[in-house]
Amino acid sequence: MRRILFIFVDGIGLGDDNPDINPFVVAKTPILNALSNGKKWIRGIGRQISERAVFIPTDPRLGVAGRPQSGSSQAVILTGKNVPEILGRHYGPKPDKTTRNLLEKDNFFKRVIQQGKHAALLDGYPPKLLADIARGYTLPSSIQYAAIHSGQSLFTIDDILAERALTAEYTGYAWRDYLKLDNTPLFSPQEAGKKMVELARKYDFAFHSHWMTDYVGHRGPFERGVELLEILDGVLRGILDIWNDDEGLIILTSDHGNMEHIGDRKHTENDVPTLIIGSGKEAFAEGLTTLMDFVPRMEKYLFA
Ligand SMILES: [Zn+2]
Repeated sequence: MRRILFIFVDGIGLGDDNPDINPFVVAKTPILNALSNGKKWIRGIGRQISERAVFIPTDPRLGVAGRPQSGSSQAVILTGKNVPEILGRHYGPKPDKTTRNLLEKDNFFKRVIQQGKHAALLDGYPPKLLADIARGYTLPSSIQYAAIHSGQSLFTIDDILAERALTAEYTGYAWRDYLKLDNTPLFSPQEAGKKMVELARKYDFAFHSHWMTDYVGHRGPFERGVELLEILDGVLRGILDIWNDDEGLIILTSDHGNMEHIGDRKHTENDVPTLIIGSGKEAFAEGLTTLMDFVPRMEKYLFA
């Protein structure tokens, strides 16, 4: 049995060692740091191999000028194609027509399903967002678009209530605080991590997408960035507690930098962090340098 749990964290890059602008410098993240040999996730960290993980600074620029954007970068992660080069620019936050066509034709969720295997985007979405997507008021992200075109109906509040899906911010607190829903599940970060593994075990390819980091990268405040990283650290603690390294690979990465530089409201052109956890991590990490390098390796890992 081999499976992949893909943990996507929007808008985190490897930035300056500056405690005034970079939450990675001040957040207490013992798990993140342990997975990179005690080193902080900042520019210059280099490739790190620890007992449970390979850490790889990863290029989201792909030789195309400008600041990487979610629409094109997420499509790179899920198609393995140099989408910014095809478009002639980085484009986002939502996918343009060309990107949507590429994702409709081919994306990794779809490939997994075509192999007779099971894939899912684990996030459950609030009723209003799903209604806005259904009436064309909001375009799906590239990640959502890829899942939809593999045949998946995006998970709903019913799936959240039945604990078949996880909220984007892991713990469920935002559904209470912002959406004013009072009956949805709440988890500690560690419990949310365990829940993510339990859900991932139902699939060959499970993908979780977290976007609050990009939101905070654009708007701040700095303290919220620190808090989000400490929550992510707790989630990873829960994941590592029960993940059996022989059951498959965990991949964590991002689409572009942003939250590592709070204050300028823009994405950065920094490398993004990638973590590969599980048996076979070294083979998977070999030669991996850009966001295009996930699909061919995931294909080999799951379908060989
Ligand atoms: Zn953004």
